[in-house]
Amino acid sequence: MTDWPELERKYFMRTFERLPLTLVRGQGARVWDDTGREYLDFVGGWAVTCLGHCHPAVVEAVSAQARTLIQVSNQFYTIPQLQLAELLVQNSCLDKVFLCNSGAEAAEGAVKLARRYGKLHLKGAYEVITATGSFHGRTLAMVAATGQAKFQEGYVPLPSGFVNVEYNSIEAIQAATTDQTCAVMLETVQGEGGVNLPNDLYLAEVRAWCDLKGLLLILDEIQTGIGRTGTLFAYQQYDIEPDIMTLAKGLGGGVPIGAFLATDSASVFVPGEHGSTFGGNPLACAAGYATLKFVIENDISDNAGQVGQYLLAGLEGLKQKYHFITDVRGRGLLVAIEFDSDIAQQLVLACLDEGLLVNRVKPNALRLMPPLIIGKEEVDEALDILDNVLVAVMGRKEV
Ligand SMILES: *Cc1c(COP(=O)(O)O)cnc(C)c1O
Repeated sequence: MTDWPELERKYFMRTFERLPLTLVRGQGARVWDDTGREYLDFVGGWAVTCLGHCHPAVVEAVSAQARTLIQVSNQFYTIPQLQLAELLVQNSCLDKVFLCNSGAEAAEGAVKLARRYGKLHLKGAYEVITATGSFHGRTLAMVAATGQAKFQEGYVPLPSGFVNVEYNSIEAIQAATTDQTCAVMLETVQGEGGVNLPNDLYLAEVRAWCDLKGLLLILDEIQTGIGRTGTLFAYQQYDIEPDIMTLAKGLGGGVPIGAFLATDSASVFVPGEHGSTFGGNPLACAAGYATLKFVIENDISDNAGQVGQYLLAGLEGLKQKYHFITDVRGRGLLVAIEFDSDIAQQLVLACLDEGLLVNRVKPNALRLMPPLIIGKEEVDEALDILDNVLVAVMGRKEV
């Protein structure tokens, strides 16, 4: 049998810390490795496979589109991208769509749009305020936007025009606002930073501040969008509406696609000011359209909300049982469990041994982001495995 990890060492840049597992197949919430062993997947392609692996709606749409038209270019009208744009606008508070290929590209495009807006309407203001603990992607500008030193240190000097301020503090945003500020960019719920929820009034206060100062509010819903938190977009649970919103991860049901949306008044690009070769291609858009349509027509967001509450309740039970669990939190099926020591990696490996894939989001915290189509049975299965693993790793420290 081929030694795939050996091939990786030989040929692939060392950017990823891999787990000792080569996956070859997926179906629903399950994946299989190259030895045929089955795993329950609570990573979900990094919060991407919202309908589970190889969902028939996505597979059919991609297969049919691949036989019909894969790529032309944005000089021409193509139908899947327009169908997807219409569906996104009809189901959100925003009016116009730009399609791209990834999250970082969506966030970067959103910032470019905010800068154009600043040039036109805010006397050339260009600065974007972002939060500590945020994550907006890996391009140089989005690394500058991302308020975490570990993503920035190796790449200085970073593009200017970003101010990272303390998360969950409206005062910090107010203090950082100058006549150079054009926008505030926040994740509705912080994902990569550890599943950090906004305080009760935070987002409403930020919205009010942006309104007062004429700034754009950009919500990065790349991870929280497409049903993940229990509503189609997470902003719907916080009684606010953004001026610009970014999407990616769940949007293509596993196929790479990104998007940013804006209100009519914030949609200030004119032809030639932004673009993409692959963005909006028929293949990815067919996947996006099929995914979004399925999510909307089958109330998948609602399932994520209900099953998410069930998962959170189960984890609360574990927290009652084990004193070394310090916190469980989340919205819908974006959930974290935090521990009083840095045992997350050990737990990831132990879960893997037991047939469950989970993510170490911080040295002391796990993140669960299973497909949104799972039921309570799969949650029970995952909770059982977690319970066993906690006992094994922590050596029966029940209280
Ligand atoms: C994953 C993520 C990104 C980056 O997306 P990529 O597709 O990896 O470029 C940006 N913002 C948020 C909130 C994310 O979760």
